[in-house]
Amino acid sequence: MYACGPTVYNFAHLGNHRCYVFNDLLRRFLKFKGYELTHVMNITDVDDKTIRDSRAAGESLKSFTDRYLDAFIDDLKTLNIQMPEILPRATEHIDLMIDLISTLLERGHAYKTERGDVYFKINSFEDYGRLVNLDRSKLLENADGRMRSDEYDKDNANDFALWKAYDSEDGDVVWDAPFGRGRPGWHIECSAMSTRYLGQPFDIHTGGVDLRFPHHTNEIAQSECACDSQFVRYWMHNEFLIVNGKKMSKSVGNFFTLRDLLEKNYHPLAIRYELLKTHYRQRLDFREDHMSENLKVLEKFPDFFARLDGVTSSGEGWRPVHERIERFLESFEAGLDNDLNISESLASLFEFMSDINREAGNLSVENVREIREAMVRVDLVLGVMHFQPERDIGEQVESLIREREEARKQKDFARADQIRDDIKKLGVELKDTPNGVTWKKI
Ligand code: AMP
Ligand code: ZN
Repeated sequence: MYACGPTVYNFAHLGNHRCYVFNDLLRRFLKFKGYELTHVMNITDVDDKTIRDSRAAGESLKSFTDRYLDAFIDDLKTLNIQMPEILPRATEHIDLMIDLISTLLERGHAYKTERGDVYFKINSFEDYGRLVNLDRSKLLENADGRMRSDEYDKDNANDFALWKAYDSEDGDVVWDAPFGRGRPGWHIECSAMSTRYLGQPFDIHTGGVDLRFPHHTNEIAQSECACDSQFVRYWMHNEFLIVNGKKMSKSVGNFFTLRDLLEKNYHPLAIRYELLKTHYRQRLDFREDHMSENLKVLEKFPDFFARLDGVTSSGEGWRPVHERIERFLESFEAGLDNDLNISESLASLFEFMSDINREAGNLSVENVREIREAMVRVDLVLGVMHFQPERDIGEQVESLIREREEARKQKDFARADQIRDDIKKLGVELKDTPNGVTWKKI
């Protein structure tokens, strides 16, 4: 699976994160289903905006984009989004893009202008626009009016740049290619990096609906003209996150970042839940007043697990539990099987939890074990059940928890146990679960 990733010239806004949470749900569900998955997400670290803003900041392109890439990865962690297997950076794959452009030139699908730009010739690809049912006669009619003076040497106004000839505005951002010095266009990045890691055709390509045209339309044109095979088997596009009826976007200025919301003390999982719970092909009207409703929903999880913790009976327990769990897991899966119908799956989860709550007095320890197993499995898809309402465990404990995670990563378990004891002396008990560490105040 290939997902169009961020352009790292600024912090991602919440609309962007809707897209990454959708990718994460798809990713986790494919794994839940038992598929082997390689998830690639590109990092656009060279384009007009990264060059413009790094120059304005007086920084090298690399150190400038590194900073925003780090911030982006922090955001993914905050939202409990699993890391893709491969995060290729455009600037580390320029040679592949050059090869692809050379092939397109050789095959007559591209041409070089006097200025030294290389354009893709859309009339050379009969299927151009198939993804969006493009009416090409209209496109060509409109074209003349839109031709800008700096694009006068294109054959057709809709031809798009594969390579941009060096311009002094680009500073030291330049690569040598057989067809001249310059830098790649945006669309060619994704064609080059997706097939580099996934082959052609590959299974799933995702992105927001705004990318269907021209970005994904152009990716298809480039890749299918360079290699005589289908590019992608399935396309999945998420709808927009909107604010007051308008698409959240940097250019409109109606955006906020994850950091903006965390500063207002919204819980990261309440934000994740907000982005997760609406079907990906529906518009999502982001409302801050949903955050407290989401918290109420999330609080059901620690309550539920605490109730299970209280079960001590070793008796026969509630007989139908096994059947009830099977029914739950089946309906949870059936919901998401239906084009990721998350509402249906969440409904089956909450119905299950309320049935179990009702029978809590009749449960046995063995029942609880089975119930927990099912919940862990489902949370591998949702990633929200480790919610902890008590966030104010203090800076000191939080930093000790991080230190302990580090020790565990280094397999220094003696040190990790020592830190756990220290934390307990501060009044907080840690518990390691398959989904990460949780805590409670004692
Ligand atoms: P960008 O960094 O602008 O290339 O966008 C990264 C991803 O976020 C793309 O897949 C976009 O389609 C998606 N995206 C941008 N704005 C929104 C929005 N308001 N709602 C949902 N997805 C968006
Ligand atoms: Zn892309």
